[in-house]
Amino acid sequence: MVKPNMNYSRLEDSYLFYNIAQKVKAFQKENPEKELLHLGIGDVSLPLCEEVIRQLHNAVNDQSGQQTFHGYMPECGAPFLREAISEYYKGRKLEIEPDEVFISSGASDELGDILDLFDKSNSALIIEPAYPAYVDANVMAGRRIIHFPSSEKEGFAPYPDESIKADIIYICSPNNPTGAVFTKEKLACWVRYANKNGSVILFDAAYEAFIEDEEIPHSIFEIEGARECAIEICSLSKTAGFTGTRLGYTIIPKNLNRMGMNLNSMWVRNRTTKTNGVSYIIQKGASAVFTDAGQKQIKENINVYKKNAKILTDTFDSIGLRYCGGKNAPYLFVKCPDNMKSWDFFDFLLTNAGIIGTPGIGFGENADGYFRFTSFGSVRETEQAAEKIKELLGGKENDKSRNS
Ligand code: PLP
Repeated sequence: MVKPNMNYSRLEDSYLFYNIAQKVKAFQKENPEKELLHLGIGDVSLPLCEEVIRQLHNAVNDQSGQQTFHGYMPECGAPFLREAISEYYKGRKLEIEPDEVFISSGASDELGDILDLFDKSNSALIIEPAYPAYVDANVMAGRRIIHFPSSEKEGFAPYPDESIKADIIYICSPNNPTGAVFTKEKLACWVRYANKNGSVILFDAAYEAFIEDEEIPHSIFEIEGARECAIEICSLSKTAGFTGTRLGYTIIPKNLNRMGMNLNSMWVRNRTTKTNGVSYIIQKGASAVFTDAGQKQIKENINVYKKNAKILTDTFDSIGLRYCGGKNAPYLFVKCPDNMKSWDFFDFLLTNAGIIGTPGIGFGENADGYFRFTSFGSVRETEQAAEKIKELLGGKENDKSRNS
């Protein structure tokens, strides 16, 4: 009799998005005339930029010609894309060699797969509230989870706790769901901690393209000592609208060694065993993102989302609603007014304004009482939602000092 991976029975059921869908369905049934305003979606709403589309078409044409056709691609990524990403890092004065770049089908895939590098006996420290996949992927592997709560006090970007010993450490900056960013100084503390304890940091940089403050690091490798203790996982999903096209990349420095094993070489071995590479067509489309024209065009799209975020931050500022994020991140994490719990605030917004957001509790127990808004929706819906929030809460929450 086969023995299944019993760790799956330890996974907690996630009813978050199911419950949201049920509540929205019931509301629509009762109020068919009311328009819904979507501020909860974590998916992008703008299409791929012109330059990416042009390259995708070219790549499709390549596949039709005897001389230009591509079969299996190299498992770790096409050299043209690994080089383009290495150059992208060079643009930020970071030396990342092409063979330190691994091409993947997205950050989610990679966040799960990369755990193959680590023994099951390692602990995984997860700063919460967090992207739920971090916890679930480690529960599936049977690892001990260290839930590391972060709070508004430290802007949801905490320092390490020297009294806790962790092996694998997740840091997501800019953060989903809180929109928080880690400063250079905070990241330097985590890098020091990891090097001291022999830990490895998994740095999720999926939202790096949303950073606008010069002093906020886009990459963990901007921190001295990170090449000895960190892996960076990135994605074109939010940077360039690749959520449905799928492409990500992972940086594993060649100087990352633990117990005589080199993690870069281990990952080469893993990829050559477990994948046959990412589609030529998609890699070609992705390479357009790293051209001058591609960079200009993706920034135009990101600016639309940034405009949405600004509409929301201006509104929250004007009514004194406390929040984190929205400046260097597409997420805004709001403290629910009147000490409402996350789900109560969800019901309040849906019933009174048709606004759909995401209850904070879906991202960790310590996030009850918070609520996530995203800026990935349309400008029109965001403007309408902002107006309604002002009407609903303007009289209620007018203590502007609360945001200081
Ligand atoms: N990491 C974080 C923090 C995310 O929020 C997401 C998607 O929402 C991902 C990774 C997954 O990205 P991808 O679409 O590349 O799988």
